Amino acid sequence: MRIYNSATHKKEEFQPIESGKVRMYVCGPTVYDNIHIGNARTFISFDVIRRWLIASGYEVTFAQNLTDVDDKIIKRANEQGRTAAEVATEFSDKFIGVMRAANVLDPDVRPRATKEIGPMIAMIKTLIEQGHAYAADNGDVYFAVRSDPNYGQVSGRNIDDLMVGARIEENEDKNDPLDFALWKAAKPGEPSWPSPWGEGRPGWHTECAAMVHRYLGTPIDIHGGGSDLAFPHHENECAQATCAWHQAFPTPGCTRACCWLTARRCPSRSETSLRWPRSSSSTPLPPCAC
Ligand SMILES: [Zn+2]
Repeated sequence: MRIYNSATHKKEEFQPIESGKVRMYVCGPTVYDNIHIGNARTFISFDVIRRWLIASGYEVTFAQNLTDVDDKIIKRANEQGRTAAEVATEFSDKFIGVMRAANVLDPDVRPRATKEIGPMIAMIKTLIEQGHAYAADNGDVYFAVRSDPNYGQVSGRNIDDLMVGARIEENEDKNDPLDFALWKAAKPGEPSWPSPWGEGRPGWHTECAAMVHRYLGTPIDIHGGGSDLAFPHHENECAQATCAWHQAFPTPGCTRACCWLTARRCPSRSETSLRWPRSSSSTPLPPCAC
């Protein structure tokens, strides 16, 4: 079987790390609202891939998280005069209901970020000990992007181009504007947990890296998600995992067939001709791999 690795932009022969077994992770939703049809399409796409692997005789272990603590959830809760936990529970249940109605198989493991704080703190501590992360004076902890020589490989970006082109928030607590938050210090009224750096909550990119490692191990065979997650989310996940555990996560160039898959709408011929030549300022779509 050959599958399209969105990190290398190539079709590659798929060979699982362990013969006959596939460990697969797909980033789940942030549960602050009902999902829309585009979200559902992503999850249905990966369900088809999972079912195909199972039908082909692979023993597939499939994990998918629920991001149940996040700025959007807190904002929605404040707007509605509810707690963040109430909002997250409502939309977690609705998401699961919609997936079952669409005949998408339940994941083998469905970890929730708020139940995985301990493994995330452990990973952040490891990254600090190894010089890949630092605690700022304000209680945040940041990943030092330039400490990872492979940063940019997953999404095909050059670190210096990021400085020029990316919309990076100015933040005087960071050593480098490129650095991203692993742990966010608590603000008044926000859900928080104790940590070695004070009360706070994990950054979004931190949860998937820690959950993959806990439930599937590192490396895994297939990491999936919507194409909009390739940068920064998948890039940052990969940076944490490879730096913390010195294993491909998967990483392009890995001699084993570790693969990043992203679900995206396949442009029709007419859409292709309309979009590609005319929008030179936007990123051209790579050739369809279907
Ligand atoms: Zn993720």
